[in-house]
Amino acid sequence: MSVLSDITNTLDNAERLNPQLNALLSIERERSLERAAEIDAATDGLALRGTAIAIKDNICTKDMQTTCGSRILHNYMPVYTATAVRQLWDDHVVMLGKTNLDEFAMGSSTENSGVHTTRNPWDLATVPGGSSGGSAAAVAAGEALWALGSDTGGSIRQPAALCGVVGMKPTYGAVSRYGLVAFASSLDQIGPLTRSVYDCALLLQHIVGKDPRDATSVALPEPIELPTGERLDGLRVGIPKEYLAAGVEPGVRARFDETAKQVEELGGRCIEVSLPHTEYALPAYYIIAPAEASANLARFDGVRYGHRAADAEDLVTMYERTRGEGFGPEVKRRIMIGAYALSAGYYDAYYGRAQRVRTLVRRDFDAVFGDVDLVASPTSPTVAFAVGSRAAEPLAMYMSDICTIPVNLAGLPAISIPCGLSDGLPVGFQLIGPAFSENRILAAAHALEAAIGFETAPAFRDSGAGGVGVAPDGVAFDPAGGRNT
Ligand code: GLN
Repeated sequence: MSVLSDITNTLDNAERLNPQLNALLSIERERSLERAAEIDAATDGLALRGTAIAIKDNICTKDMQTTCGSRILHNYMPVYTATAVRQLWDDHVVMLGKTNLDEFAMGSSTENSGVHTTRNPWDLATVPGGSSGGSAAAVAAGEALWALGSDTGGSIRQPAALCGVVGMKPTYGAVSRYGLVAFASSLDQIGPLTRSVYDCALLLQHIVGKDPRDATSVALPEPIELPTGERLDGLRVGIPKEYLAAGVEPGVRARFDETAKQVEELGGRCIEVSLPHTEYALPAYYIIAPAEASANLARFDGVRYGHRAADAEDLVTMYERTRGEGFGPEVKRRIMIGAYALSAGYYDAYYGRAQRVRTLVRRDFDAVFGDVDLVASPTSPTVAFAVGSRAAEPLAMYMSDICTIPVNLAGLPAISIPCGLSDGLPVGFQLIGPAFSENRILAAAHALEAAIGFETAPAFRDSGAGGVGVAPDGVAFDPAGGRNT
């Protein structure tokens, strides 16, 4: 089939599904068709020939809206394209459009988006997770085959878990952050959301690399390999007891335990380990991330980018009104916490101390990786929750990332793969590795994925995008096969 007819189908499906799903903020029909025709006519360099990809809307795309899900950037058109997207473009992908997110990637449900809330294709009454909820929902529903997200504290892995897709946060520095609108620069990473581990590896292969435009980017010590193995012989997998403590739903725990058993059936060994500073990771993150955000978001002042308040009589009033009108409540909360934590009298008490905790969290992992090859945990302590159920309680929302945040603090790579259902909703299994162990993680995840055999598909899914077990829109889906409850 030609790329053009393929992309036409994908666009038709996306346009049909999106009004209910709200995963995509923009669908670039004209451009996608133009690009597809170009690819059909090309004869060389067809590595990713015509693969349809959706891009989280905090990743800059030249002359294509990049809103960060914020009113303050509702009219922002970047003058350049992020390196990761540029590399994919050069390898002949088709950018279908931009995906919804919590404003500036701050949140775990997409309910903080200044545009609208994305729905989870497994159950439209629940959230898709966040902040890359639009990317996860788009892939789960078949609006796009692949998506890019960003992960600062779990924003690729948690929505991947809640939507039943694969999501990976690479080692800090493995993918250039050039063109990713900065939230917390020392934690942010771009990464893939796909339906399979193989696709995740393939997409990752095309976005990694040192970039002269991002001084924190590094060349991987070995190229990303496409996983093929089916066994885990000799693999030592650490299970940190702190991650299975209070707060993990029984259904999530059950799927996790079953998957851990499969690790052993495939020849691996599960060993209980301890990461003793886990309980301090969340509080440290909620100092460090807001501190960096308060500095990064200072640039949105009505002068350089996007929205500007009308009719302000002087400059300071213009700044105040622009930011007051442009930012939503969660972003304002973080800017205030960050500015406070960085202020002269409190810098050491809060920011300095949080940075020291970060070092302890990293050392916990260093110590454990002396004894085991990978660490496993649930990705999220719960399955997808009802829209509105945590929106009024920031702390309940922050707890969604309890198993993912320590990984960002330590700069490590981790993947989430679907490992079954609980109450008809997907559960994610997280594998964490030492820095630059992407190949080890992908190989193990690939073997496990095959053993788990997660084949059920969400109720709300495009039938034309190569899905399995498809059900028509809105019809209750009866999960068949696998280990569903
Ligand atoms: N949910 C976390 C937060 O709100 C993580 C977000 C992210 O990874 N971008 O900060």
